[in-house]
This record gives sequence, structure tokens and C-alpha cells, in this order.
Amino acid sequence: MIRLDDIIEKVSSYSPEADLDVIRKAYVFSAKEHAGQTRMSGEEYLVHPIEVANILTELKMDPKCVATGLLHDTVEDTHTTIEQIEELFGPDISLLVDGLTKLGQMSYENKKVREAESIRKMILAMARDIRVVIIKLADRLHNMRTLDALSPEKQTVIAQETMDIYAPLANRLGVGWIKTELEDLAFKYIDPERYAWIEKNVSRKREEKEKYIARVREVIETKLREAGIEGEVSGRVKHRYSIYKKMQERDIDFDDLHDMLAFRVIVENEDDCYPLLGMVHSTWKPVPGRFKDYIAIPKANMYQSLHTTVIGPYGEMMEVQIRTRNMHLVSEYGVAAHWKYKDGEKISDTYHAGLSWLSQMLEMQKDVKDSSEFLETLKVDLFPDEVFVFTPQGEVRELPAGSTPIDFAYSIHTDIGHSCVNARVNGRRVPLSYTLRNGDFVEIETREDARPNAEWIGFVATSRARNRIKQWINAAERKESFELGHELLRKAFLMYGFNFDELIEKGELQEKAGEPLGYDSDEKLILNVGFGKITPGQVVSKIVPPELLKEDGAVKRSVFRQMLNRIRPAAKSSQDKKRPSVIVKGAGDFMVNIANCCNPLPGDEITGYLTPERGILVHSYDCPSLLSSDYERRIDVEWEEGAERVTPVKIVVFCKNDVGLLADIAIALKEQDANIASAKVRSTSDNRAVCAFDVSVRDIVHLRNVIRALKDIKKVIKVKRVGFDKHGKPLRRVAS
Ligand code: MN
Repeated sequence: MIRLDDIIEKVSSYSPEADLDVIRKAYVFSAKEHAGQTRMSGEEYLVHPIEVANILTELKMDPKCVATGLLHDTVEDTHTTIEQIEELFGPDISLLVDGLTKLGQMSYENKKVREAESIRKMILAMARDIRVVIIKLADRLHNMRTLDALSPEKQTVIAQETMDIYAPLANRLGVGWIKTELEDLAFKYIDPERYAWIEKNVSRKREEKEKYIARVREVIETKLREAGIEGEVSGRVKHRYSIYKKMQERDIDFDDLHDMLAFRVIVENEDDCYPLLGMVHSTWKPVPGRFKDYIAIPKANMYQSLHTTVIGPYGEMMEVQIRTRNMHLVSEYGVAAHWKYKDGEKISDTYHAGLSWLSQMLEMQKDVKDSSEFLETLKVDLFPDEVFVFTPQGEVRELPAGSTPIDFAYSIHTDIGHSCVNARVNGRRVPLSYTLRNGDFVEIETREDARPNAEWIGFVATSRARNRIKQWINAAERKESFELGHELLRKAFLMYGFNFDELIEKGELQEKAGEPLGYDSDEKLILNVGFGKITPGQVVSKIVPPELLKEDGAVKRSVFRQMLNRIRPAAKSSQDKKRPSVIVKGAGDFMVNIANCCNPLPGDEITGYLTPERGILVHSYDCPSLLSSDYERRIDVEWEEGAERVTPVKIVVFCKNDVGLLADIAIALKEQDANIASAKVRSTSDNRAVCAFDVSVRDIVHLRNVIRALKDIKKVIKVKRVGFDKHGKPLRRVAS
């Protein structure tokens, strides 16, 4: 087991002037906080933070980072708060511990492979400080090394996550040995059978392989000596997972896999790399297409090396890598390598040739004088243009920086965006214009009848959301315009006695108006009337005969009346018997109905209203339902001289409740020659009565006489015509 002293010793070996107290203090604190806790394996929990700290010393990380390794699980797994950490260890360490705690709270279980890249980026984006990711990798590495203690189900899940997320992260940070070890460990749990099979084959003929390695080494070393180049040669069997991948890629059998062996030559100067490559190629025949110059063109993670595959001494393929010591350090330690460089020491200039973010970071480092400043530059936003958030299902969504819950909603589904009414982030209600932050859990509340708001366009960050909102608004405007166009045309045609819907049905609208005006559908024609691009008159003039167009309003209406007669001839004839003697000015015979709402009597001032269904409806001139209707369809009407219309009118009589009252009323009505069609009497608690009568009257004069006669009865307090005020004006619409 690793002890604190081992860690202290290692740190002081690569960082002799470092302040090691922080590590001791972190150790004491962690031991106290984790006291009594055990791991699944049964061993003391403290073993884990110590091992993680130890891995960090292998990466030659700074003392604060190593101390954080000791503390990394305290906030997540003990009662320690982040405030305590800050108070005891300062802001740097608390920032690191906080970053690790947040990463630890996320679960990537059951994530689809396609999301792995988003998750990796999110981890980097959330970390703020790359050391957080490096500590996380150390944490994961130790967990993988001790994975046996967990159940097989958990092993598979964690191993898959390691393969999908952490090994690629290690690769991206350029920490080669962690990437390799994580891959092999994960492979072992994900596919135990294949792993075992490869393991068996790798260890088979071990002696033979060792002899082979020794022989190749000797050849290369001789060449180096002859050329006067200083260098170190090593040979090894490639790591298990890379053998497996190679077998998959090339679909080959294990026995064919000759380049299971890889040789590495590490030289001091970059100038020696290419001459050495020439020597290797002149000794063994290179395999075409297998040479890669990562010195001239470094990988995104700063990796530099020459790779070539040659036909070895026994006709077998073998890989040879040539690189400088600096390049080797970078390949093994990646971004972590920078912590061990002292002032003045410089990494090869070509590192920043690549365009990856790491190279850019390195570019920044060129201008930085001391290492603490360099650490600051690592606390950059690695993905300033993106933000990573979670759906309620725990899926990661990658959105442009500045995105809002509306952008998020539209990224899920257009309908969710359209019907979005509220948003919650991390359980708390936020405005829809809230700017999303890395790691936010976003929930969208929708309502079926909700509609997009044009104001959203002002703050959304994605073009997807903007376009969808605009599209919706356009469609809504289109619908309104269509309805408006339809109504305008319907009225315009009605004025000339044409039924607009019929014109559409028969195809006449399209044939006579749509085509000549250049519209290929009724919908487009109607829409353009709604938009105001053409007038209803333009459309009407294509269909209504010219002689009709010239006529004045009265004639137009007469045409309309003809149309009404056409529509309802039967209804008209049935009206004949009890024609209500209404004269339609300027026209003779016509279907007339008295409007139920105001039920005017001969003598009431009246106005006609043209309807296709009921002919001319006769209203009181000031009937509210008439006043709120279409002005153009009104038509002047008057009662025929001496017109009578025996029709029941509702009258309410308020009176004192007394014996003989009904008899008095009956006598009064009889005297006025008015029949009672029905009567209802209701007495009230204060000894009054409310009588409602349907009284048949001929006209308004007759009605007035009836009302006066009723009022003359002593016990009567008030008489009212239902639906009319005390001046005889109709009230709001009354159902009859
Ligand atoms: Mn841990």
C-alpha cells in the first residue's frame, strides 16, 4: 500500500522547492473525514484517495493537484462542505474539488454512443481547469484497477463509460499511458472472452518474441552507433486493445498479426529523427501506406512522432516509432507534461502547428513567464461557443453559447418549442430568456393551446429556433389573411347576388378569376386578397357581368333578392298566407321574416337585413344584433299602410298581490281586444306578484293601448314589454 511518505517523496523529487505541507494537511483531513468508510473491496476508503494522489505524482502534478487527489471525494462522500475546503485549503483547491464534485454528480449511464463526444466536451467545458479532468482521469484509473470488487453489471457499465468517455479524454489530453491502461482495463470487462484470447496469444511464444525484440534492438543500436546518433531503443508487444482494434479493422486472424510488436527509438534531437528513419527504411523494406509523419503534422493532442511499418528480419511486419525525448514526454503525459517544465525550458516550436484547442492553449503559454500564470491560462473556457445541458432524461444537448430554454425546447422538437410556456433549470423556474449554463438540467413546461411569441426571436441563439418561430408566425398570419380574403370576397360577390362558396365549388372562381389574374389555386387568390395585393373588386369584375357591375346599390340588392328567391322558393311560398305586410322599398314580392330577437310590431321603426337563408329579416331599426351586423346588407323596409301582424308579445306586469287581480287584468285586455296566449303568475315574499303574459297584438299602437289599460289598473305598479326598455327601445337580444 502506498503511504503518505511515498507521495511526499515523489513530489519533492520532481518539485524540490514545492510546499509539501498542503499535501500533509490534505491527508490528515481526508483520513479524518473518510474514517470508518470502506470500499466495496472491504479495504479502508482512504486507500482510494491515496492511490489517486499517487497516480497524480506519476503524472508529476503540482502539490495542490496532488492534495486535491487526496480530497477529491470528501465533499461528495462525507459531510464536508465546499466552504470548509475553501477555508482550510484556499480557493484553488476548493475550485478543483468543486469541479470534481460536479462531475461526480453526473451519471452517464445508458448514454448512447453518439452522445459520448458531447459528454467528453461537456466534461472539459465544465472543468474550467484542466487539472480537474486530469484528477478525474486518475480517479477513474484507480477505480478501473479495482473494478473486480463490483458486481458484473456495474463492471460492464463503468467499463463501457470508461471506453466511451474517459479513454478518449485521456487521449485528447495526450496522456498516452493512462489512455492505454484505461482501454485495456475497459476491454477486459466489456469483452472478457476476446480479451482472454488475445492475452493467451500474446503470452504464447513469449521467448520467441523476446529473442526477436532483442535482435531488432541490436540492429537499430548498431545503426545508431555507426551514425553517431545518441538514442534509446525499446521493443514491446502492443497493448491488448490496440491489437484487438487492429484485428477488427483489417479483419485478420491472430496468426497473421505480425505487427503485434512495436519498436520505439527515442533520440535527443529532432534533426536525428529523419536520418534514422532513412536508415530503418534502408535496412528493412517499408510497407507502403504505413508511414506517418506526426512531427511535421502533430496530432490534435500535440502528439509528435514518426511512425513506419517495415518488413522485419523474418519477413514479418513490425512497427517502428521515432521521436525525441520531449516528444515522448508529451505523448505520455500530454497536457500534464507542462507542470514539470522549469522556466526557460521550451517545448518544440512545432507543437502549436496543429489547430486544436490544446495547441492554441500552448500558443498562449509561449507568452507566459511563470508557471502559476500558466495555470491561470488553463482556466479558460475551452468551448466558448458551446453550452452543454441535460434533458430531464439525462441526455446531453449541445447548443451554441447564449442559448435559452426556447432554443433548448426547439432542439428537442418543434412542437415542444411552439407550445413552450415555462422553463425550469435545475428545478427552479427561470425566464424563457434565461441564458443556459454548462451542466444545467433543463425542463420545459408545455401547454397544448400555447403559441410561440414573436418576442422570442429577439433572444433565441439558434437559427433553428428562430426559423421555426418565424415559420409559425407566417403560417398564423397566412391563416388570418386567408380568412380575411375569404370574407371580403364573399361579401363582394353577395352584393351582386353570387354565392362565393358555390363559385369555388363549381371551379368558376379558379377558371374565370384565378387563372386570368395569374393565381394557380383558389387558396392563393383568396390569400392575395387578404394580403391586399389585389382588391375584391378585381376578382368580382372577372365573374360578375359588366352590365350588373354598372348598376347602383339598389339594383345590386335586387339581384341579391333574386338570388334569395332562388335559394328558398319553398320557404317563400309558405310565407304567403301570413305575409307580414312589410314593403321592401324598390322591390315587390319577396321572402320576409320578422327577426326573433326584437320581434318588431307594425308601427315599430324597422330595417331589413339580407340573409341567404331567411330572406329579408326585419329588425327594429335600433336592434343591437342588427347594429352589430354587416352594414352593406341592410336594406330599407317599411310597414305596409295599415299593416297588421297579430303576434304574441311578451309583457310583464308588476303588481300588488290581491284577490281579483287576474280578473281585472283579463277584463282590461278584453276591452282592448287583445288575447292572452299564455300567462304565468308568481308571487313574491313582499306580497307582490309578477305576471308574465304573451299577449297577441296587431301593431305598436295596439300594444301601447294595451299597456296603458294595464297601467290604469289600481294595483298595477309597472308594465314592461320584454326585451325593451321603458322608452320602447329594444334591449339586448332576447331569445323567443
Ligand atoms: Mn474517487
